[in-house]
Amino acid sequence: MTSIRELHQQLVSKERSAVEITQSYLDRIEAVEAKVKSFLTITSDRALTQAQKVDEKITSKEAIQLLEGIPLALKDNLCTKNVLTTCGSKILANFVPPYESTVTQKLEDQGTILLGKTNLDEFAMGSSTENSAFQITANPWDLSKVPGGSSGGSAAAVAAHECLVALGSDTGGSIRQPASFCGVVGMKPTYGLVSRYGLVAYASSLDQIGPLSGSVEDSAILLKAIAGHDPKDSTSLKVDIPDYPSLLKPELPPVRIGIIEETFGEGLNPEVEAAVKQAILQWESLGASITTISCPRFRYGLPAYYIIAPSEASANLARYDAVKYGLRQEGENLLSMYTKTRAQGFGTEVKRRIMLGTYALSAGYYDAYYLKAQKVRTLIKQDFEAAFGQVDILVCPTSPVTAFTAGDKTADPLSMYLLDLMTIPVNLAGLPAISIPCGFDQQGLPIGVQLIGNVLSEALLFQVAYAYEQNTPWHSKSANL
Ligand code: GLN
Repeated sequence: MTSIRELHQQLVSKERSAVEITQSYLDRIEAVEAKVKSFLTITSDRALTQAQKVDEKITSKEAIQLLEGIPLALKDNLCTKNVLTTCGSKILANFVPPYESTVTQKLEDQGTILLGKTNLDEFAMGSSTENSAFQITANPWDLSKVPGGSSGGSAAAVAAHECLVALGSDTGGSIRQPASFCGVVGMKPTYGLVSRYGLVAYASSLDQIGPLSGSVEDSAILLKAIAGHDPKDSTSLKVDIPDYPSLLKPELPPVRIGIIEETFGEGLNPEVEAAVKQAILQWESLGASITTISCPRFRYGLPAYYIIAPSEASANLARYDAVKYGLRQEGENLLSMYTKTRAQGFGTEVKRRIMLGTYALSAGYYDAYYLKAQKVRTLIKQDFEAAFGQVDILVCPTSPVTAFTAGDKTADPLSMYLLDLMTIPVNLAGLPAISIPCGFDQQGLPIGVQLIGNVLSEALLFQVAYAYEQNTPWHSKSANL
């Protein structure tokens, strides 16, 4: 698998031009996209124009930065000026943002090449990318399986080598779970580390943007490129951003790793369990001290999330009123315009969550549901705080299962929700976490292991993940399309 540094080297040594590299990705998209369906929009012309600019710089002997000429893809809930941004929804099917999100602006300023916008569950609500209003993305390792979600398009595009790296968003696991299903690296940063300005809001107190990539180093490079304080996001942290990639070493730093006891119970696929336990042994053999930690309230994360996230979503999605932008269905009066537009524009899952959230926030039920869920959120934070008093990093599977067959869970939303139980507590507590490949099941489907760190411990997470990656073969395997 190639890497950012490798492509950069090829550019600097003039072995390949940026146009050649970009064209090779566009050719790959052309070759496999009919099977994988990762992209909602492909921006070929724009990509080649951007690449030409990089080549002009190289020809005129100007130095280029590490990310200049690197082709990437963006989840289609990140606003890109003059490029369609649908959020996987009919209600935004014609939405061309008049502004650029902070992260995409940063990437553009650093010279990256935008190949296109990737498929997702509508408004990032889902775990399989089957909730997209437009198409079903396939898992490159087995086209009958889902790529995970909601950033399934980005994860599949990286796994299918349709782009080198991509961005996703993670509200309850949407970067890490598809990364684990597609055998790639997915990083969810500390809440507030990356600006959410220009990310279409789902549940604002949980949403974070982060990278999907083929390697830990590429993830570290990309996070460094997008992190940092932004006055346009009031929840953005004012902290210095470490130079993550330069801190990576093949040796494991001294680290205490805690296995979250509760994540190894009922419902865990035995092959996932075996692979994750093997990964833990690997860290031990690299010198980590391993203990078992109990997070007793972890399991209430799932019910709390499915109150809090829909509540925030019901408020956030009130803006799609057919007046300001997006779809409009004319009606006899204002109310009928609203209702017709929203009835047609939103899909089933989005409507379900708006109803759940509206119900949970309504006067008679607020205390019983929303307030209670917020209290549970505090208890989960306290479990993590207690755990990080004893260890530096927590480890558990990213998902209890490997990629499932498309269509298998669409009729039973609860069975889909249950898959998020290991990723959700991390968002509720605002912590950083990374999913990296740690093996395959008997069907040849990738398995992911999740490392969770304390607030702003991204550098340590990358180091621990990198040492494992450098000592195991998983990241060098590719889906055979
Ligand atoms: N699967 C979870 C949900 O459907 C998480 C989604 C996400 O992280 N955006 O809400």
